[in-house]
Amino acid sequence: MAIMAAASHFVGLDVGGTTMKAAVVDGDGKVYPSASLRTNPERGQDAGLETMGETIRQSVAAAKLTLADIAAIGVATPGLMDIHAGLILDPPNLKPWKNVPVRDRIASMFGKPTAFQNDANAAAFGEKWTGAGRGAHSMVMFTLGTGVGGGIILGDTIVEGKHSHGGELGHLRIDRPDHGRLCGCGARGCLEAYASATAVTRRAREEMASWRGPTELKEFFTANDDELTAKVIFDLAAGGDACALKVVDDTAYFLALGACTAIATVDPEVIVYGGGMTDAGEWFRAKIDADVRRFGLPFPAKSVRVVFAELGSDAGFIGAAACAKRLAG
Ligand SMILES: [Zn+2]
Repeated sequence: MAIMAAASHFVGLDVGGTTMKAAVVDGDGKVYPSASLRTNPERGQDAGLETMGETIRQSVAAAKLTLADIAAIGVATPGLMDIHAGLILDPPNLKPWKNVPVRDRIASMFGKPTAFQNDANAAAFGEKWTGAGRGAHSMVMFTLGTGVGGGIILGDTIVEGKHSHGGELGHLRIDRPDHGRLCGCGARGCLEAYASATAVTRRAREEMASWRGPTELKEFFTANDDELTAKVIFDLAAGGDACALKVVDDTAYFLALGACTAIATVDPEVIVYGGGMTDAGEWFRAKIDADVRRFGLPFPAKSVRVVFAELGSDAGFIGAAACAKRLAG
């Protein structure tokens, strides 16, 4: 009698506002070529669920496998969501989707156990499995984009919280709630209002308005206002521009304040930063690292590792696959 190989592969799907991306990952974390389709949320949630199914099917084909090889599926989506119920609630970048039972619909579409997770948590879980946090006992991840996402992983546990808002580290309070900068969540003083890519460009505009002395940042701004991005600011800082450097130094400082709160809360082995800003590389990491040592709770802040993510935008679907693997046991 032929021995049947048990299904030992997992599909991770990461749904974003613009595109969704899926790939098969095997039990050892080997990633197969991915498939990507446009999300087109404006076509409605039924079309969206069909596109999710198609992206999953294409990823299995891209891996030259069949559905029989797949043990479980993991889906990561942006908030707002109810992780425990498997529901997308009302996420701003997937309008007009509302109360979409993603987990159960995908599970019945494929007849496979299906895990459901927040995209920032999934990215952290992916980095923990095969990226910058691999082998660590515990990790906290900050994802720096137009907002600041977060994820906390303790052992094999993702801190989801009672209301699926666990690990929302962009909303750690680092400044006064009465006078601080206004955050997208409606509160003041959140980390996101200081250290997201959007916040970095806003602070740069303020900095150069009052800057005395030469700065290329101001010249760039005057000539190409619309193109002022965090990348431009980081590039000028790397080139030694004093005003841009001040903006980057402050960014590292604000990020370190957030990290210090996380250190005092969970005492992680490693703190991981991901997102476009980390393309700046080692000199920026070293600035955050130095401020963490300086301002963090002395003992844990001395030994915590501060690192940049390794999986880029693949972290979301790799983490979704890791959730599927965990579900399959
Ligand atoms: Zn906030």
